[in-house]
Amino acid sequence: MIPVKGYAAQSPTTDLAPWDFERREVGPHDVQFEILFCGVCHSDLHQIKNDWFPGIFPMVPGHEIVGRVVKVGDHVTRFKVGDLAGTGCLVDSCLHCENCNDDLEQYCLVGNSQTYNGYEQDGKTPTYGGYSTSIVVKEHFVLNISDKVDLAATAPLLCAGITTWSPLKHWGVGKGHKLAVLGLGGLGHMGVKFGVAFGAEVTVLSTSPKKEEDAKKLGAHHFVVTTDPAQVEAAKGTFDFILDTVSAEHDFNMYLSLLRTNGVMMCVGVPSNPAEIHPFSLLGGRKSVAGSGIGGLKETQEMLDYCAEHNIVSDIEMINIQDITTAYERMLKGDVRYRFVIDIASLK
Ligand code: NAP
Ligand code: ZN
Repeated sequence: MIPVKGYAAQSPTTDLAPWDFERREVGPHDVQFEILFCGVCHSDLHQIKNDWFPGIFPMVPGHEIVGRVVKVGDHVTRFKVGDLAGTGCLVDSCLHCENCNDDLEQYCLVGNSQTYNGYEQDGKTPTYGGYSTSIVVKEHFVLNISDKVDLAATAPLLCAGITTWSPLKHWGVGKGHKLAVLGLGGLGHMGVKFGVAFGAEVTVLSTSPKKEEDAKKLGAHHFVVTTDPAQVEAAKGTFDFILDTVSAEHDFNMYLSLLRTNGVMMCVGVPSNPAEIHPFSLLGGRKSVAGSGIGGLKETQEMLDYCAEHNIVSDIEMINIQDITTAYERMLKGDVRYRFVIDIASLK
């Protein structure tokens, strides 16, 4: 077994603290990489706090992982020692169901293995995430990272990037569309960058008036403060798509009123509690509410290659692992500009 240093929550009521554990030896199809940076996703906070469902503890969060390969198995073909590598929210899936065959491993019908707070495909070995010094992952679930990119700022693409890329691609959002990005946080700021890159007219819907200048710098064309009734009224019936990245309870019916006829609300944010949606909010204008979860491995690689080519990265604030609790507190207040990334050197 391979000894690893990590940061873990021992229970939903304790702060993260140092915790040493072991990873499996590198198998014939595995890649081991030394972790250099790991992004901090709001999902990390939801899961250590049991917001969605009872978690598996100790929990080592982190699913925006980048680093350098230190060992590869005999059958590995896409990586060699010294290469850069990344892993997102998935470390395994059945790889033979209909969805896996369609490169939709995130929707594996047997059940995928999440990078942490999950189990390997054996159904009993817990997975541990990227707030740690090293990881061993099946090659299929390891992404190639260009050596020309800003590595720390690329880490968030592994979750925030692909989670916003995938629905925009699936619904063909681009030129001629009015896209609203709801919530300007980690996912939201990537949604703005991709929406702009795809040619859409992008509006940020935000509860934070102070973020207007940033939104414009990110490329957004318009900014609506959703706590201002006059601004909300003026935006009614105007958007083809809303990309909803909000992490907390919010009024779906109000936001649905901002869609045009046939508009689609693409939900990627996951508040703790279910939302109440009145059928009237949908039928007056044939509107749809849809959801999207991360992305498959092929699509994630396409997104990373596109970002490397077009120089798209996340706007980040680097932190040491010892500052994680403060980072979570700021995240809860919407005070993230726009992704915390942990420098894993601080853990070594
Ligand atoms: P984040 O950085 O904390 O951003 C969330 C943003 O939502 C905040 O910055 C804030 O933006 C807005 N917000 C917060 N509370 C709000 C409220 N009560 N009403 C309206 N807006 C509010 O979080 P994130 O990392 O981007 O993640 C966002 C959500 O997506 C989380 O629930 C996360 O678990 C989920 N997620 C889903 C997937 C997936 O596969 N679907 C993948 C990753 C994450 P403003 O200040 O602009 O209002
Ligand atoms: Zn995430």
